[in-house]
Amino acid sequence: MTATNELVLVINAGSSSIKFSLFEAGAGADPVLLYKGLADGIYVEPKFTAKDAADNKLVADAIPGTAKNHDEALRHMLAWLNGVINGRKIAVIGHRVVHGGVKFSKPVRIDAAVITELEKLIPLAPLHEPHNITPIKILQGLLPDVPQVACFDTAFHANQPELNQLYALPYEFSQQEGIRRYGFHGLSYEYIASVLPQIDARAANGRTVVAHLGNGSSMAALLECKGIASTMGFTALEGLPMGTRTGSIDAGVVLHLLNHLKMDAKQIETLLYKQSGLLGLSGISSDMRDLRSSKEARAKLATDYFVSRIARETGSLAAALQGIDALVFTAGIGENDTETRAEVCAQLAWLGVILDPAANAVRSGEPRRISSDDSKVAVYVVPTNEELMIARQSEACVH
Ligand code: AMP
Repeated sequence: MTATNELVLVINAGSSSIKFSLFEAGAGADPVLLYKGLADGIYVEPKFTAKDAADNKLVADAIPGTAKNHDEALRHMLAWLNGVINGRKIAVIGHRVVHGGVKFSKPVRIDAAVITELEKLIPLAPLHEPHNITPIKILQGLLPDVPQVACFDTAFHANQPELNQLYALPYEFSQQEGIRRYGFHGLSYEYIASVLPQIDARAANGRTVVAHLGNGSSMAALLECKGIASTMGFTALEGLPMGTRTGSIDAGVVLHLLNHLKMDAKQIETLLYKQSGLLGLSGISSDMRDLRSSKEARAKLATDYFVSRIARETGSLAAALQGIDALVFTAGIGENDTETRAEVCAQLAWLGVILDPAANAVRSGEPRRISSDDSKVAVYVVPTNEELMIARQSEACVH
């Protein structure tokens, strides 16, 4: 570490966990990861784990305290960080914030007015936004002199054409109530867009579909590296089925659950967000590894459904792009599950996709091409790096 370079702390907080990454940002150079880790089990049995950039575990211990809350977890994390940074100051803290609404279409330096605006967005992302805001407020108290920046998962999609942002509700709903398609996973897409020019100049200047397949999954259409359409909409529930989320479902089902099965809003929210998707279909697990290693017919049903929806959405996004030059797989499943990639590509043969099975079988943390040389559509695996994207954006925002 050179003492002149700035330290950038990236925070990605959820309901029961806070992930952190500490970067060193050199003048003009990309931030370099120094440490990463997380506090998880918050409110139950909080634990803290930290690793160095080479993935060596440095610490794994229980977080002391009786409140077991985000405040204690952040204090513990900062105490550990202070030990390793050895008197150097953190120059900026960047936060992943799921929803930026209509107002925030780029990273923003956080002040009291921004927090007020973020709190207004809680109804649009009730399961995520409050947990993104909590550490911002706590860190304002703990490190009042360190600027904080909010980086939004919706921002990448903010310039989608109006047609791809609308629902066919009365027009006033989009204008007055903000009920429109926002799209999420934008930090991941933005990272992919930032590295695509080095991977495939033709795709970077043309039409690319990116499949971010993880616990949460979505896909986006990139025209010249800009987002023009996405499978996710008003909330992170629309589009592909996910670990425990339904993905797109006829709104009439929700009315039926309310009116005829007499479920209340909270029960329906739990059903749609926590009990459905791969978990609900399989009855086994939300984790792709469990499903791939299971012999149960319903495990296969769940993965078949997942793959079929990805293939169908690729067709829809290719139509939005008026063609497709490249398909990129990323995130936990996209980067690691060779079967999902092979099955999706087989269903896209009609588009001219030809997989290279040997290339698909390669395990690597590097971007790689997995389609054959004669494939009309170039297919890639590109590991995403949302934390690096937040570090870049936060650094740029304060300079
Ligand atoms: P993410 O939300 O991006 O961390 O992705 C989580 C998903 O990636 C889970 O469904 C995991 O089962 C899946 N995943 C992670 N590693 C593998 C792997 N080696 N093979 C298959 N799926 C994996």
